[in-house]
Amino acid sequence: MGKNAFDVALEQLAEATEYMKLESEIYEIMKEPMAQLTVRIPVRMDNGKVEIFTGFRFQHNTALGPTRGGTRFHSEETKEDVKALSLWMTLKNALNEIPNGGAKGGVIVDSQKLSQGELERLCRGYIRKIAPIIGAWKDFPGADIGTSSQTQSWMLDEWEAMNMHHEAGGISGKMMVLGGSEGRPEATSRGLLFATREVVRARKLEIKGLTAVVQGFGKVGWHLAKLYQRDGIQVLAVSDVDTAIFDPKGLDILDVNAYVERSGTLKGYPKAIEIGNVELLELECDILAPCAVQNVITEENAPRIKAQFLIEGANGPTTPEAEKILIDKGVFIAPDIWANSGGTQVAHFERIQNLNDNNWSEEEVNAKLERINHKVFNEIYALHTEKNISMRLACWIKAISKVVEAMKARGWV
Ligand code: NAD
Repeated sequence: MGKNAFDVALEQLAEATEYMKLESEIYEIMKEPMAQLTVRIPVRMDNGKVEIFTGFRFQHNTALGPTRGGTRFHSEETKEDVKALSLWMTLKNALNEIPNGGAKGGVIVDSQKLSQGELERLCRGYIRKIAPIIGAWKDFPGADIGTSSQTQSWMLDEWEAMNMHHEAGGISGKMMVLGGSEGRPEATSRGLLFATREVVRARKLEIKGLTAVVQGFGKVGWHLAKLYQRDGIQVLAVSDVDTAIFDPKGLDILDVNAYVERSGTLKGYPKAIEIGNVELLELECDILAPCAVQNVITEENAPRIKAQFLIEGANGPTTPEAEKILIDKGVFIAPDIWANSGGTQVAHFERIQNLNDNNWSEEEVNAKLERINHKVFNEIYALHTEKNISMRLACWIKAISKVVEAMKARGWV
């Protein structure tokens, strides 16, 4: 069996803490979430029977503030994945100047197979079970794989009903009418676009006319492919869990999305060649953006990857072995905890607006996001070039330093 996301996260943590020559207690405290809640959620299905789902909510580190992180509804969700994702969230928040610790939630379920009623009951059941540890000043769940502004709105409604008062800041990624933020649906992808512009500029290239391949056509992948096309990048291929589609002359992303909205899948899209998800990653292109799941770029396929930029939309798409191979080949990697932080950043903006009963315009949200993305890029790029270390290690050093500073201030270490 290959490595899981947690194995990868621990290797990355060990590499960074050793490079920084930190006391071993820092590694010890950061290697596991500080709180781990596993729950069993009974849900009445439409056929009258009760099914029990397993869910998790893990809070990794609270030194920088209350925790935040998305909820995944995925059939292959595991404790190890949730642990890794919660650690990455701590670092993502610290790196991107968000005053929060990291958390992550998950439920083992294929949400596509549930009816809307079953999905709503699962969301409400999940919130009831994790209620003791969440809230606007403790831990606020956001969206991730398999969740949407509708699931987030049901979760908020359940949370508020339980508390008998409104608390929009308790759940992020909800619909606009309940206190969602302008710009949230596209935020992760917009951040990835900003990241792409930065790395392309650093290589002294023009964005217009480059070619891209995007794995995953969900919330992150679809918006990214659309924004890429708007920026003059030719999107050659996209994929979902069922299939991948390819057109060497470039896909019409709006047309592809219209097809997916009608049929629920990329399978059968008539105006492109159908290829495999594995083949997709190895296509000739300038930009490769994995926006699906973790550990898709490994030492096995890394030698065959032809892109010159790897933009990590997914969390943990690249194993450490694969990363070394790609760096040797000259691939410029935009690491996940910086590149895909737009969603977390705007979820943070959403909470600020909620706590102040305020609404920012989409222009304001996007401008703030771009400013932070650019500032963080300058910091990590400087560290990367001055110390001759990978972009990922530069990100981890900056993030860990901040968490350690907060833990020291609290007297934890
Ligand atoms: P989503 O559920 O909206 O979309 C996921 C996409 O990946 C779908 O097209 C799905 O068919 C495809 N997919 C699922 N399993 C796959 C597999 N085994 N192989 C290939 N494709 C597969 O999820 P999303 O919100 O777009 O999240 C995608 C990735 O981006 C995840 O790694 C997530 O953690 C990360 N991410 C999401 C956000 C966010 O704001 N939603 C923020 C940061 C990072």
